[in-house]
Amino acid sequence: MGQGDSHDEVPRSPTGRVPKWVMDEAAGNSPTEAVPFRAAPSTSTPLLASPRPRRRFLGVVALVVAIALVLGVAWSMKGIVTQSRDTAAALPAPAQRSAPPPGVEESPTRLAPVPVVAKPASKSFRFLVNQPESTTPATWSPCRPIHYTVRPLHAPKGGDTLITDSIAELSAATGLTFIRDSPTSEAPSNDRSAYQPKTYGDRWAPVLITWATADEVPDFGIDVAGEAGPIAVVSPNGSRTFVSGTVALDPVKFAQAKQVGGTASEQAILLHELGHLVGLAHVNDKKQLMFPSAGKVTTYQAGDLAGLAKLGSGPCAPSV
Ligand SMILES: [Zn+2]
Repeated sequence: MGQGDSHDEVPRSPTGRVPKWVMDEAAGNSPTEAVPFRAAPSTSTPLLASPRPRRRFLGVVALVVAIALVLGVAWSMKGIVTQSRDTAAALPAPAQRSAPPPGVEESPTRLAPVPVVAKPASKSFRFLVNQPESTTPATWSPCRPIHYTVRPLHAPKGGDTLITDSIAELSAATGLTFIRDSPTSEAPSNDRSAYQPKTYGDRWAPVLITWATADEVPDFGIDVAGEAGPIAVVSPNGSRTFVSGTVALDPVKFAQAKQVGGTASEQAILLHELGHLVGLAHVNDKKQLMFPSAGKVTTYQAGDLAGLAKLGSGPCAPSV
């Protein structure tokens, strides 16, 4: 975009290549400390458009994480019997090189206070994405609102309230501010662009929340109840900032969960997915909601809350 071209603080890569990263978390793996990213080979897509050396670019990272929810034979005894799987589908970097002007809606300071976490803070959390060579997580800017939009198609009864309530809980746990935009007709996609100016204007696309079918999200045809993840941009200094994301929910699995555990079970799935959206990975701790299987835990627990507070404490990001 022309506006982006004029910004020098985010120059193109000296190699003229767009860094591509993929989430490297295999399906069914226990949440060990895997290398979260794998650099793309040197065949990365060259930049399009203007070859001027100072043209702005942003590499786009996309993460999609799924939780699996199996309503198995033992559900009458144990409630929701689950089997988890993280399917991490890496979105290829979009061919487009355009981005909104930096700092849309960005304030000089964070919009809401960092949540207070009970001491001693639990360490039972993990991050989806760390900054390069660091244990500092990639985060959303706490200095601008996170917009989200919901596709009403296929929404179950009560789905809207479920989303509103869960987002409120996420906001309280992170100190991040969320704004619900008008509904969308955008369908879930494995290569969703973080920048869709024709649809959403000259800003990062809002987080897309969909109630999706198995035709749209093939994993829903098996045992997956939801998929969610942030989309990050990579600044020239290598730092990563989340600017958009996706949450896809299977209304069929939600109905099954509701039958077993009521609204709390539905909310558990959604809160878990929203945890991924802001950058939480799975933990191998059944007491946390970010344990990969759905179970008795239906709200954020000490480890989840400690992690969410950290993810809400990132720096402002006026350059993206
Ligand atoms: Zn998950």
